[in-house]
This record gives sequence, C-alpha cells and structure tokens, in this order.
Amino acid sequence: MRLLIVEDEPDLLRSLARALREEGYAVDTAEDGEDGLYKATSTGYDAIVLDGMLPIMDGWALLKELRKTKQTPVLMLTARDRSADRVRGLDIGADDYVVKPFDLAELLARLRAIIRRGSKQSSAKIKINAVEINTASRVILLAGEEVILTAREYSLVEYLALHRGELVTRTVLYEHLFDENDSSLSNLLDVHISNVRKKLGHEFITTRRGHGYSIGA
Ligand code: CA
Repeated sequence: MRLLIVEDEPDLLRSLARALREEGYAVDTAEDGEDGLYKATSTGYDAIVLDGMLPIMDGWALLKELRKTKQTPVLMLTARDRSADRVRGLDIGADDYVVKPFDLAELLARLRAIIRRGSKQSSAKIKINAVEINTASRVILLAGEEVILTAREYSLVEYLALHRGELVTRTVLYEHLFDENDSSLSNLLDVHISNVRKKLGHEFITTRRGHGYSIGA
C-alpha cells in the first residue's frame, strides 16, 4: 500500500511518515498543496493523508481539484475548533477526518478503513483458500497457523488480496509497494514474490506470464 502525506509542519510530517513506514506502507510526502496535487494526480495512491491548512494551495482546494479526476481515499487532518472545515471537507469528497492533535492508533484505524472501502472490502478479514489475512491486525494465518512475513511481503499479499481475482500488473505492484525514496535493492519484486510463495505456498500467487500476478482467481 502506498500513501501520500500532504502536511506542512515538518516535525509532524516526519513523525507521521516514519510511523506509517513502520506499519509497512510505502510513503511519499509533500509539504504544500501544489506539490501534493501534482503527486496525488500523477500516482495511484491507496490513500492520501491531507492537512487542511497548507501553503500555496490549501487542502480543500487540492481535494476539489483531485476529485475531478480521481477517487483516491482521502483522510483529512483538521483543527479542533473548526467544525465548518470538517463539514466542508466531507462535502468536497473527503472520506474521513481526524482532529489534530490526533491519536496515532485512531489515524491508522481510520486509514485502514478508508483503504478497505476504496477496494470495496467490507470486512477486515480476507480468506483465500487456506490463507486468512487480517488487515486490521496485519496477521496472516495459513491453515490456522500464524505465518511471519516482512512488512514488504505483507503489503504485497494485502494488495493482491484486496484486488483478488484481478490481474495485477508488475507496474501496478511497483507503484503500490515502493515509494519515491526506495532503493533499487528493496525494489526486487521477484524476491518478495518468491519469499511469499515459500511461506504461503507456490500456488498462492498465480503468475500470468508477461502480464503480472493474481491471487484467488
Ligand atoms: Ca498545516
């Protein structure tokens, strides 16, 4: 899962990006509305964390522009005393909001929920044959036994599971698993695929040669 954070407070941006990367998300950042809009429209993010008050272009203007072309799930960050701003955000097309200063666990839960809704998955648990993926606790069971995956491997499985039955191309996987700062070493998609197969069974991920991958087809 790849996220964009648009936030102009450097400390908050840094700590939020770090926390989200620790959760296994690929994270891009923007510090003003213009750069945020450029990235949001040119990349297929799984969700965007969008501050309201931003330099150059504010979060509401960004969201309004974005919604002309993209339905990327958006979680807005708003100030405690500005309920009119929250209403405006929801009216323009924000999927949810958290009030600053927010509780990190709540922000993470709300993010997972809007990503799930974006992929039309209503339950936190996805079952594909003997594999059960809990997207809330990020635990994967194989025949009832927990399997330990790296954050990257988990993201790969979760992305394919949220798009089960669909053909997911390598280009799309690259876009959703790796952020703008990832080194070429972490980008070894084949290695991650191979490791997931070792842990969850070779047949768990189907290769459609020359096209991409799918699971649960
Ligand atoms: Ca701000």
